[in-house]
Amino acid sequence: MKKHNILVVGGGVGGMSAAIALRKIGADVELIDIDPQWRVYGAGITITGPTLRAFKAIGVYDEISEVAYVGEGIRVCDTQGNLIRDLPTPIPAEAGVCGSGGIMRPALHKILSRHVLEAGVKVRLGVTVDALIQDDSGVDISFSDGTYGHYDLVIGADGVFSRMRSLIFPNAPKPEYTGQSAWRMVAKRPPQIHCRHYFLGGPVKVGVTPVSDDEMYLFLLERTPQIFRKDEELKDGLANLLEGYGGILAELRGNINDQSQIVFRPLEAFVLPAPWHVGRVMLIGDAAHPTTPQLASGAGIAVEDALVIAEELQVERPMAATLEAFTLRREARCRLVVSSSIEIGRLEQARAPVDQQTAIVEKALAKLAEPI
Ligand SMILES: Cc1cc2nc3c(=O)[nH]c(=O)nc-3n(C[C@H](O)[C@H](O)[C@H](O)COP(=O)(O)OP(=O)(O)OC[C@H]3O[C@@H](n4cnc5c(N)ncnc54)[C@H](O)[C@@H]3O)c2cc1C
Repeated sequence: MKKHNILVVGGGVGGMSAAIALRKIGADVELIDIDPQWRVYGAGITITGPTLRAFKAIGVYDEISEVAYVGEGIRVCDTQGNLIRDLPTPIPAEAGVCGSGGIMRPALHKILSRHVLEAGVKVRLGVTVDALIQDDSGVDISFSDGTYGHYDLVIGADGVFSRMRSLIFPNAPKPEYTGQSAWRMVAKRPPQIHCRHYFLGGPVKVGVTPVSDDEMYLFLLERTPQIFRKDEELKDGLANLLEGYGGILAELRGNINDQSQIVFRPLEAFVLPAPWHVGRVMLIGDAAHPTTPQLASGAGIAVEDALVIAEELQVERPMAATLEAFTLRREARCRLVVSSSIEIGRLEQARAPVDQQTAIVEKALAKLAEPI
């Protein structure tokens, strides 16, 4: 079988997973990231059962479960912390993984980047793609550091503001602010937080996810026209938004102090119609299907993209047919995540009944538990 020579642009969750999965099928892989320090910001991330299944397939599940939280179910509470209902997090038993989890982004980055380096991926940092030209035989890339390369396949995994997307789809829509911004804060995990929690029915959507034995993160989605906040506004801003909430949220609010790790980020999304490739240049992860976090599945579908392209490349056929097979397997599933997440965000902003919101979550989680 032909040995592929593949460039991955972007070393986030999707790009690193692609590099690992492609080395497993014997491809030569080069990965570039624009950030010279290859950093990731210090927030928590929720990992669903399907995401854990995808991490298992690329070989990092055991390491993740050692440092992260893995468990079952989502508890839905009212604004005072009273139980409304417990949502199951179904995942077929044969997947051999838990249905739910959470991890700090830097901890996940450390595990994935170590696997990338140990797999023999050529990693170059502080570099991006300046220009590309392609024909039937491959893609010629000129890099921002003045170097050149020739590849069978180029994978753009450079996130929501993807440069690779603008190079191959110059007329693609731009990510649009959805009207909501996300606040996240890392905090000590009390014993009663045994699983993921949502606190619904209030003016904002708020929840907590454990990320290790002793830490968790709080996330809060606020409807606001504001898309930028100064660091010094974050502490009081979050405390104001949590006013009136009871139980654990009141405790968390009371503990906010100058040392609290709080990040604020506007939510941007749009649907880019598939196919997500032109010739031999394809997009995966947020570059292809940027989503809001309502289903906590953006990272998961990026890892799945990586697994599916590695699987499809193992079938001997022209590259165009491989990329068409990828599209066929990925489009509906990724569209389900993006459109359901945007719809839940719309319902949250309209303060629609809790049942209407959880019905979409449950339906989507059941669908996502199906094999990829
Ligand atoms: C507030 C918020 C909360 C979220 N919470 C969750 C959650 O709980 N669970 C979940 O599954 N998902 C969540 N998501 C979504 C998730 O973060 C993304 O879907 C996921 O990070 C996508 O991975 P990616 O590799 O495609 O892109 P990214 O993680 O954005 O990685 C892109 C990489 O490309 C690099 N790069 C950028 N531009 C260039 C360039 N021009 N050249 C080279 N390299 C470049 C960047 O440095 C970065 O390393 C959340 C998103 C937001 C906004």
